[in-house]
This record gives sequence, C-alpha cells and structure tokens, in this order.
Amino acid sequence: MEEQFYYLNREPAKDGLRYIHTYECEGKPAPLFLIKLGFFKNAQHALLEGQKYYAKVGLCKDCCSLNDEILTHTYLYQQNKPQGIL
Ligand SMILES: [Zn+2]
Repeated sequence: MEEQFYYLNREPAKDGLRYIHTYECEGKPAPLFLIKLGFFKNAQHALLEGQKYYAKVGLCKDCCSLNDEILTHTYLYQQNKPQGIL
C-alpha cells in the first residue's frame, strides 16, 4: 500500500471533531485551515499524528478508509485469541 499525504482540518466540524483528509480528497478544506500531517501508510497512523494537535480528531469517511488488514476485527480477534487452549 502506497503512502498518502494527510491533512488535518484546523476547523472543527459540526460534531466537534477535526477531520483528517488525504491530499486527493475532494472534501479537503481550504488551505487556510489545513495542517500538514505528512506521509503515512494508512489513516490510522495519520490519526495518531493528528491527535498530537487536537484531542478530538476524526477520519474523513470519503478518503480515509480503514480497510487495512491491521484494523479489521478478524485481525484484532487473532491478536486477542487466547493461546494454548485446546
Ligand atoms: Zn476526505
């Protein structure tokens, strides 16, 4: 998966969250409100970076997909599965 450049919207949305967008997103806010987060392999990493700026940060549903394998329930289930039980 290629890295994307992520931006954080400095201006909070109506729900109080500040949303993260990729460079290519059409919902990307005006340059005045953009904080450049940098290149990340997935939206989750961008989210962690965004949380350094603001406590309430969200991911844009249009451009920040969380389909990465590492974030799926299946993956988390496997990580949390008890070991050694037969
Ligand atoms: Zn977006």
